[in-house]
Amino acid sequence: MDEERAKRIELQEEQRALSLQLVASQQQELNRRAELNIISDELENSRKKHAREIADLEFDLQKKDRLLQEANEDLRACRNDLEQERETVSSLKSALNAQSNAHLTLTAKNRSFQTQFTALQAQYDELLRTNANLILDLEAERQERIEMRKEATENEAVRRKLHNMVQELKGNIRVFCRVRPLKADISFPDRRDHREINIWSSGESATGQERKESYQFLFDKVFEPECTQAEVFEEISMLAQSCVDGYNVCIFAYGQTGSGKSFTMEGGASNATKGMIPRAVDQVFRIAEDLRSKGWEYQMEGQFLEIYNEGINDLLGKHEFDKKKHEIKHDPKTGSTRVTDITVIPLSSPTQVRALLSSAQSRRSVAATLMNERSSRSHSVFTLRITGLNAATGESCEGCLNLVDLRYPLMKMPQTLNLSHYLLRHLPVSLILNPLYLLLYPYLFPPSHHGRFHLPHREQTHLLLLSLAVRICSPRFLA
Ligand code: ADP
Ligand code: MG
Repeated sequence: MDEERAKRIELQEEQRALSLQLVASQQQELNRRAELNIISDELENSRKKHAREIADLEFDLQKKDRLLQEANEDLRACRNDLEQERETVSSLKSALNAQSNAHLTLTAKNRSFQTQFTALQAQYDELLRTNANLILDLEAERQERIEMRKEATENEAVRRKLHNMVQELKGNIRVFCRVRPLKADISFPDRRDHREINIWSSGESATGQERKESYQFLFDKVFEPECTQAEVFEEISMLAQSCVDGYNVCIFAYGQTGSGKSFTMEGGASNATKGMIPRAVDQVFRIAEDLRSKGWEYQMEGQFLEIYNEGINDLLGKHEFDKKKHEIKHDPKTGSTRVTDITVIPLSSPTQVRALLSSAQSRRSVAATLMNERSSRSHSVFTLRITGLNAATGESCEGCLNLVDLRYPLMKMPQTLNLSHYLLRHLPVSLILNPLYLLLYPYLFPPSHHGRFHLPHREQTHLLLLSLAVRICSPRFLA
């Protein structure tokens, strides 16, 4: 029993110790729990803190992500820029290379230019010296040219004088005879100078026998049937020079209808058959052009008249028929004769003159068809007036070329006509007794010599008009 008691007591003791231990453990547990609470609070706090920190960190992270993204983009942009810069740099490098190459070439060139420049400078100096010499030479040449121009002007005056002398020596009045191709008893005995013509005519003698008579005529020149227009013009071409030199030239065509007046004066359309009028006009314009280099400036103007039944008809008038009354005015002081109210056309080219002549001719033929055989009963006078001025020498001149188609009237000649020795010696009587010489007679000889001869009053118009061509008291050239 004791043992039991002892055991019980021991057990009680143990129980007590265990209770104490339990209380202590409980206390410890409480403490622990309190601690745990504290710790869990702390843990909570720290968890919250950490959550906050994590949120902050996440926010930061997001921010950083954004920044990173931005940085990445920046980086990409920078890379692009860099790439571009690289490219630029590489192109700049090649440009630089090229530049430096160019620089090298330029330097080389510069060097060679410098050498050239030095050479050129030497040449330039040489040229300056030559130039100075040339200026001196030029001045000498200029002086020489002035001298030569002066000489040329003087020579031109001498040429004019000589030309005029030659024309005068040839005869101020020249009568040519042109024979058109025909079958007739004509011979040309003068094979050297071509001045004679023999015409045979058969008649009856007193005994009734057939008799051949020969008539010999002498002219300044006879143009045989085979003579060309150019050969005929050769004889009168010098006259074109005379009228440009300020002389009056008159070319009359005289002969029966069909004898070849129009053919000779106007001619055909081809160059070979061109007549005297177009050839003379061409020549006048050509000479005027040539004299331009000697300081002469020429102005040409033309007029074209027809004399029919004592009346004057302006062939260049505006209307088909000229109804104006024209008068002939003669100025004894200047010796010039003009027709009033006449159309004067300024002429600038030979073609214009030809067009003008043909329009006047057609006007004439219109009138001719209306008035029976008018053209063979009227005279026509074409005048090309030439005025020249030389600004260098101050000289001036006025000449004219008259081209007259004379009518062919059958007039009975007075037997008492007292012609000069000159005419009798040089011309056959039959020719002297034709109207051309009757018309010209008063101009060729002073009044005292022809006192016995009176022209019928109605010829006065013709006389005055012809004076346009020959200018009273000073006939120039007449072919
Ligand atoms: P006119 O004017 O004197 O009345 P034309 O000049 O009209 O005479 O001539 C009459 C004809 O004779 C025209 O057909 C013309 O072509 C011709 N004729 C005149 N002379 C010659 C000549 N020398 N050569 C060739 N034909 C000519
Ligand atoms: Mg005719």
